[in-house]
This record gives sequence, C-alpha cells and structure tokens, in this order.
Amino acid sequence: MSTPARPANRHHKRPRGEGQWALGYREPLNKNEENKKNDDGLNVRQRIIDVYSKRGFDSIDPADLRGRFRWFGLYTQRRPGIDGGKTAILEPEELDDRYFMLRVRIDGGQLSLEQLRVIADISNEYGRGTADITDRQNIQLHWIEVEAVPDIWERLEAVGLSTMEACGDTPRVILGCPLAGIDADEVIDGTAQIHEIDERYIGSPEFSNLPRKFKTAISGCQAHCTVHEINDIAFVGVVNERGEQGFDVWVGGGLSTNPMFAKRLGAFVRPEQVHEVWAGVCGIFRDYGYRRLRHRARIKFLINDWGAEKFREVLETEYLKYELPDGPAPAVPRDVRRDHVGVRPQKDGNFYVGFAPKVGRVNGDKLHEIADIAERHGATRVRTTVEQKMVILDVAPDQVDSIVTDLEAADLQVNPSTFRRQTMACTGIEFCKLAIVETKATAADLIDELEKRLPDFTEPLTINVNGCPNSCARIQVADIGLKGQLVTNDKGEQVEGFQVHLGGSVGLNPNFGRKVRGLKATTEELPDYVERVVRNFEKQKNEGETFSE
Ligand code: SF4
Repeated sequence: MSTPARPANRHHKRPRGEGQWALGYREPLNKNEENKKNDDGLNVRQRIIDVYSKRGFDSIDPADLRGRFRWFGLYTQRRPGIDGGKTAILEPEELDDRYFMLRVRIDGGQLSLEQLRVIADISNEYGRGTADITDRQNIQLHWIEVEAVPDIWERLEAVGLSTMEACGDTPRVILGCPLAGIDADEVIDGTAQIHEIDERYIGSPEFSNLPRKFKTAISGCQAHCTVHEINDIAFVGVVNERGEQGFDVWVGGGLSTNPMFAKRLGAFVRPEQVHEVWAGVCGIFRDYGYRRLRHRARIKFLINDWGAEKFREVLETEYLKYELPDGPAPAVPRDVRRDHVGVRPQKDGNFYVGFAPKVGRVNGDKLHEIADIAERHGATRVRTTVEQKMVILDVAPDQVDSIVTDLEAADLQVNPSTFRRQTMACTGIEFCKLAIVETKATAADLIDELEKRLPDFTEPLTINVNGCPNSCARIQVADIGLKGQLVTNDKGEQVEGFQVHLGGSVGLNPNFGRKVRGLKATTEELPDYVERVVRNFEKQKNEGETFSE
C-alpha cells in the first residue's frame, strides 16, 4: 500500500485547508491532532503498565487521560451527582470521575464460553458487577480503576480478547453477523475477513492516527444485521452474475449531528481482496480525511464532497493499483426486523437461540449464568448483536425447549415483546460525560410500562433512547428516536426529557427520522407519549404498512 506524498489537486475542492495530510497539511490544526502528533495513542499502553497503574490516577498525564487512554478502550466516567444541565458548562476535568469505563472489543461479536466467563469475572472483581452489551457488539464495564488495568489486560489477552483500539481515532471493533458460518440462509460467511483485518491492521501504527473513529461492518446474512448503511465502511455479502460469492462495498455512513447514509461504490470485492480494499479505504481516510474540525472529521464528509465515483477511482488508482469489477447491490433484507432474536435452524441441523436482555444491561453474574446455561445444553459459542442482544449457537434440537426455559427463567427473553426486542438505549448520564439525561433505566421502565399498556402489540417498532445529540443508540434510524435534552415541564421547570424524532429506518427505504417540531416529552411523560403514538399508528395504518412507512 502506498501513501501518496502530494497527489494532484483534482481531489481538493475546498477553498480552505481541511488539514488533509495528502494535500500537505501536516501541521496539527487543533488540540486533538496535536496530541496525536506528539505521541501515538498506542504508546500509552506501556505507560499504563509501568507508571499509571503503579502510581495511581493522579499521576496520569492529562493528554493521556483525555486522549490516548481511548486507544485502549478507556474513558473516564462521569462524576456521580452532576446533573445534565451542567454537561455543557463544566470543564472536562470537572466532569471526570476517577473511575473508567472499559470497552472490551469483540470483533464479529464472537465469544467462547471461556471468554464470556473471563469478562464476567473481571466485571465482578473490578467493575462492581457492571456489564452492558453495546450496539456495536462490545461489552462495556464501569468503575474500573487504573491500578487494575494491567491485570485486566492480562486476563483478556490470555483468552484472545483485547481493548486495543476499542475507542479513539482508530479502526474500532469490526461488526459481524452473529450467525456467520452457521446461518441456513447465509449469502457468505465474513468471519475470515474480520479476522484477517484484525490480525493485519488492528494495533498497527499504519492506522493508529486517523482523523476520527472508523467503523467497519462485514456481514453476509440476509437480514443485513450489521446495519451497513450507517458504518464508515461496510462489506455486504452478494453473489455476482457469474455465481461467485463476494461483497458489495459501502462507504461513509454515520449518524450523530450530520447523519448520512453510506454510499455504494458499486464494486464487487472477492473475499481475498476484502482486507486490501478495507486498508485502501482506511488509507484514504487517513490521508485525505478532514482533520481541521472534529465535527467534520468522519469519512462521510469526504465521500459526500467527492462522490462515490471519485472515491472509487482514487481507491483503485492510488491505493489498490488495480480495478475492481462492478458488482450487484445486496438483495433486500428478508425482514424489517434485522436482528437474530428467537429460535431458528442452523445449516447443520442445530439451532441458534437469540435472546433479549433489557437494553443490553446485564452484569457479571448474569454473564456467568449465560455461560452456564449454554454449557448445560452442550453449546460452546455465544454472540453479541448490534441490537444489544445475545445469541447462543449450536443448540441440539432436543435441547431447545430446555434452554429456552432456562433463559426465560433468567429474564433473558427468547420470545420478547416488540418493546423489549426493539428498544435500545445508550449509556446515558449514569456514566457518560456528554449525557444530558438518564437513558438505561428510563428505557427499561418504558419497556415495562408499554408491555403492561399494550400487551397485544406485535408489529415491528424500534425505540432508540439517547442521552444527548450524539446518537450512540442510533436515534435517526429508529421509528421513535428519543434525543435526550432538558425540557420545560408544565410547572415551567427544566427537567430531563427528550426531543422526539419519528419515522427513521434503514433497509429498502432508508430514511432519517423527522424531528417533530415542538414535540418534546419529559421523562415522566414518556410512556404516555409513546403509548399515544403507537395507538395512533394502529388506528391509522393501512394493511401491511410498517411504522416507518
Ligand atoms: Fe453518551 Fe450521548 Fe453517546 Fe449517549 S448518545 S452514550 S449520552 S455520547
């Protein structure tokens, strides 16, 4: 892979320098870029082992604490007791707790029972039992002290897990279909491609200083469960006109404050080319990505300015040095529900069992329980999903009824209500320094209320609860997206609440939810509000119409 020193100006249309390295802007234009230039984020690992874990929190260099720690999945969590009104006005150090969130990277969502138990033990020993399954297939722990980090890494690495590049301006965890390799209807198994990228590039200085985060998804299931439309790069399983299996590549999806759907490059990528194409796209992002303003530093802004055609041309001519053939678009997802909850057959005659912890919140004991239940039923593999759910693989037909009974008894529902199945929530004010409102408990209460009030509702309906405008829980593509903010209640007081976005979706007709002007609900009013929306939808919908239509 070559990195062009100074390519032609044909790609540079913006009048002001955007800090693009390939155009000669190597001097840092903001504090983040300066910190990255001063020292590679990957170098913080040794300082954590040698210095910070021995001398304690107060010894941590601020540039490491609020910058490079992220390269190893570590963020300071929010100091308890600071309300959402103070989020924007306090300095970062006033929001910092002395404890960390630790994100365990789980590429493809693939876990053995041994790995699951190690995470469970770490949660119980060092994380006060906390554990959240994220909508990027990671597991996050909280209350971690810096003194514990070397031991945690040792235990994770002993079973092939890591926190490397779980956060930071890096290639983050690679999403993959939880059913890769076993799904009876699979187009292609992307597991080998996930592992290859992981082994070649994760933790490599080649890609450890990107303009911002870089999110990857690789999947070949017919449900399109990794939501390729909103990843920075996604490979989606297709079969071309010659009957060859491969991938269709998409670039530049992302939500947050300027949501954009990924664009198809229209190229057919053979399985053995995936890692080169991935590295080419990541290289374009590194070299041409905008580094002047953080909020414009995602690859979506670059491809939005260039267009897919130019992006593909640069990829082929400057990075790959060969042309990719055109290829087909992926088939339409088989269902509006793109998860893997429930019991379904595998291609080998066994079954997978997908279940729904509430809004991804589990704990150390629950993770142990899941491992024990799987083991008792002869299963050895567990998966996390991008919907904050989990799946146990390889359950023999005569074990299905029993495993379902055991999971349900542990409140891990295999046949959940729509509300339990399709509600997600981000971390929120409990731990997140950017949050304005509480999310996990609010969403859990909302699920309980809606199950009571609408027991017969079975239509697909996604409700995504976010604690601030950042959209970690994908507000803009939910049927009902709830963006946390302070709102005024009927007594004129500022209280926690949500701006409502309605009608977002991915799939056949991708659509960002509309911000409903003036439509805000306090946290207290939320169950009434959502109930009203659902009842109105049921009254007004035409035959076969889904909520987002
Ligand atoms: Fe934190 Fe906001 Fe992301 Fe929620 S959406 S986890 S509050 S940054």
